Amino acid sequence: MNISDIHLKVCPFCGMKPNITEHWGGSPVEIICGNQEAHHTVSVIRNTLAEAVNAWNERTNEIAAYRIGYADGIRAARAEAKKVVEKIMKQEVEGG
Ligand SMILES: [Zn+2]
Repeated sequence: MNISDIHLKVCPFCGMKPNITEHWGGSPVEIICGNQEAHHTVSVIRNTLAEAVNAWNERTNEIAAYRIGYADGIRAARAEAKKVVEKIMKQEVEGG
């Protein structure tokens, strides 16, 4: 795999380009978010560069999908909480 063939997605948490480290002169290959300031660790380790690149890109897709699902979950929970609050307020107004 040539360097020019490598297409790595950015970190799903901070949007930074990840770093590639070839341990022991080539294998295993570690791809990790290069953001030193961040409080998250996203990394994959595989035997070959191609495997590591694929794993990294799959992992970022999974995390991105999870975060979208999480945001939807929060939205649904807020909507539910709003209904409860509205019900309580209505009962108070009606003297329930
Ligand atoms: Zn990051």
